[in-house]
Amino acid sequence: MINILDEKSINKIAAGEVIERPASVVKELIENSIDAGSTSVEVEVRASGVNLVRVADNGCGMSVEDAEKACLAHATSKIKDASELESVKTLGFRGEGLSSIAAVSQIDLITCSQDAETGTYLYLENGKITSKRPTGRAKGTTIEVRNLFYNVPARKKFLRKEATELSEIVNVFGRFILSHTDIEFKLSHGDRVLLHATCDMDLASRVGLVMGEDVALSSLAIPETKNRYKIRGLVSTPAATRKDRKSQIFFINGRFVKSRVLNDAVYDAYRSMLERGRHPSAVIFMNVPTSQIDVNVHPTKLQVKFNEENSVRKELSSAIKAAFVSVKEEVVSIPEPKISSEVIADPVVIESQEEFTYTENIDKTSLDKGEAPRPVKPIEPDIQAFNQVSGDIFQVGNCYIVQVEDDGMVITDQHAAHERVLYELFSESILSGKIDSQNLLFPVKLELSASQVIVMDKITDSFRPLGFQIEHFGDRSYVVQAVPAVIKDSDIKTVVYDILSDISEMDLKKIDVTDELIKLTACRAAIKAGDPLSKREMFYLLEQLKGCDLPFTCPHGRPTVLNVTVEELEKRFRRT
Ligand code: ADP
Ligand code: MG
Repeated sequence: MINILDEKSINKIAAGEVIERPASVVKELIENSIDAGSTSVEVEVRASGVNLVRVADNGCGMSVEDAEKACLAHATSKIKDASELESVKTLGFRGEGLSSIAAVSQIDLITCSQDAETGTYLYLENGKITSKRPTGRAKGTTIEVRNLFYNVPARKKFLRKEATELSEIVNVFGRFILSHTDIEFKLSHGDRVLLHATCDMDLASRVGLVMGEDVALSSLAIPETKNRYKIRGLVSTPAATRKDRKSQIFFINGRFVKSRVLNDAVYDAYRSMLERGRHPSAVIFMNVPTSQIDVNVHPTKLQVKFNEENSVRKELSSAIKAAFVSVKEEVVSIPEPKISSEVIADPVVIESQEEFTYTENIDKTSLDKGEAPRPVKPIEPDIQAFNQVSGDIFQVGNCYIVQVEDDGMVITDQHAAHERVLYELFSESILSGKIDSQNLLFPVKLELSASQVIVMDKITDSFRPLGFQIEHFGDRSYVVQAVPAVIKDSDIKTVVYDILSDISEMDLKKIDVTDELIKLTACRAAIKAGDPLSKREMFYLLEQLKGCDLPFTCPHGRPTVLNVTVEELEKRFRRT
């Protein structure tokens, strides 16, 4: 049987396409405030936006008649018909924002327009106005959205954990802070102010606010271009990179967009200056004639399509390169290869007085030579065993250790193996309470972004058992006072940021946070694939691996060791 759906059901279904989560409410309401010409937008959320999203602005407000119409489907003051689509300058124009929110929540709306004598209060439930009265209010609009998805339990179930929804709100909010530098924005979660951008803050200080001072300090301004797309913005120096791509943000005609073409252009500009797996930060603004992009994109689909992809890509990458020119010296200092070739040249004869540690005490000169510290805990070396085995150990592809034996060979993944060794060392010392913590001579100050703070707040305590001592230093600053001894020579800032980035992807309620931190720290401290090792280093690593409880997998479950027997070889060569 075919049913014709009633209006209520149609609206609920349509709402699902525009309003996916609390952050979509925040986005739709702020866009309306901006379109209304506001110079100040204040947002308060409770319970990560599920209980309440309140947006108050000082924009043009609405008359009683307009306020009543505003929450109807396809009600918009921004275009009259499709002929105006090409020239639309506002963020909204589809007339779907308010009606979609109203279909899935309870709304209090208070508004007052410039020339009205009094303001208007409306209460809406299930998309219908159920209460209306005049009320006092200065020019502007306040919209309170309560109990999101209260009437669509299936959608409510799909919401992610609170911290994720809040992070998403912070991300959405941060984009408006960046794209509209002439507007004051304030975001609070309950009593706590998460972000507050005032009008006297320029783009660079707003980048600092949104993405963390550490990103802002390392940014370069793209010189004003006179090219077709009027590109401007900030990019990070090649030396200040991150583990994820989250801090590449693009705006076209003031609207946040996602585009592979734009990301590719950024990497074009940084070509050969990035270490593998590292990503630059970029906040880019472009003006592209609406005739050259698809304007009628779905509101929640942020992907943008260009008619002339190549010219966009070329212009953006040369604009970014122009930013580098101003700081040539810095750009030339591409990270040195981590290990000098001297490390590979291995002394065959071992002098008995030689210390059997992986460069335990690195002196300044070895660092100057570009040698990477090997922060591995020393084990008691068995010199005899080493002498016996040393001839039969090789490193292949700077990644695999091959031991030749009578009945085949054993291949070890150096990174996975070392991860396992460190993971067990760490876990043991935590269990026994003997934490090897190293105080930093120069504590490392971190300036986190608002969303990093949300993660950090949740995990600072879990860092402690590992030997990290991280302290809150007011607002969004944290100071690393001590670190686990095994990573004392690593780039601490990068280590902590990378850990935050990995943890932010996880559901803290479902994982053992300390164990996860141990894994991440072990991974960071471990020898990398691509690091050349001396025979001695290989030998020690294998000895340590032998001493592990679970030597055959890394902490993430990947194999550490592969056995290739003569039997196997015979099979492969079809001898049997
Ligand atoms: P759209 O933004 O696509 O026009 P919305 O449903 O989001 O559709 O809003 C409908 C209309 O309500 C807008 O066109 C605008 O006239 C009015 N409106 C909504 N929010 C505000 C606000 N904060 N201030 C003034 N007018 C508003
Ligand atoms: Mg709108």
